[in-house]
Amino acid sequence: MVKQIQTIDEYYEFEDEDDEQSLFYAPSYLEVDEQLVVVACLMLLEQRYRVLKSMSPSEVVEEIENMIDSLNVELTSTAISKIDNTVYDFFEDLLEDYNIPDGYVEQDTSMYEIVRESITTLCNQLKGEIKQKSMFFEDNLGKDTYNLLPNFRRAVQKVIDAVGSNLIYSKEKTHRNVDKFVYGEDKLYYWLTANDAKVCGWCRVQESLPPRTLDELPLDHPWGRCEREPVDYLYSNEYMLLLARGEYRGEIESFRE
Ligand SMILES: [Zn+2]
Repeated sequence: MVKQIQTIDEYYEFEDEDDEQSLFYAPSYLEVDEQLVVVACLMLLEQRYRVLKSMSPSEVVEEIENMIDSLNVELTSTAISKIDNTVYDFFEDLLEDYNIPDGYVEQDTSMYEIVRESITTLCNQLKGEIKQKSMFFEDNLGKDTYNLLPNFRRAVQKVIDAVGSNLIYSKEKTHRNVDKFVYGEDKLYYWLTANDAKVCGWCRVQESLPPRTLDELPLDHPWGRCEREPVDYLYSNEYMLLLARGEYRGEIESFRE
């Protein structure tokens, strides 16, 4: 279990250096395309970790502000562009499945501001923790337990949450935009749990509620196994018209970047 707060007590613990081998990986509950986005972000963290590891506490105190500020900028732009591209591919597949030409449905980008804010917050926390630890070691302790692994372990978890979870939400909200077009905004959906012992209390409550529209239906946990199912599969008038006009998506090429 990763300790969520840094206490002075933690400075006295020896760290297992082997842990760093497996630290900068994406969790397996993510889909492969999601893992690639998370790993690209974790690589940036790992680069900083390697550099900091070779420095003395005084050097770290000197450099940490600049290093983490540049990490923040790089991490944010990498996360946003990779999330955007990954959701775009997912979105294109959905449009393909339903044969919807461009311009009818929009990709969701509403989570990006949250991603930005979360990355800035985690970088500020990382910077503050490392700085206070290094100042302490500089003056009061030998170097034998000086190790930034616990700090990066916390940062990795936060990156997985900020990037991985918000990517999952961006996909789901994009999927909802497509479903709103295909089935109409007023379509009601049931919340379906896996109905086994692992289902949490919150999801049980969701399942017990009457069916709701997509705007009323909350987002599931990032790792959730619940599903939503429309009360019926009747198409919206808009989508029916589109199908009746026989416009085909295949003809339309879209360009990006
Ligand atoms: Zn749950």
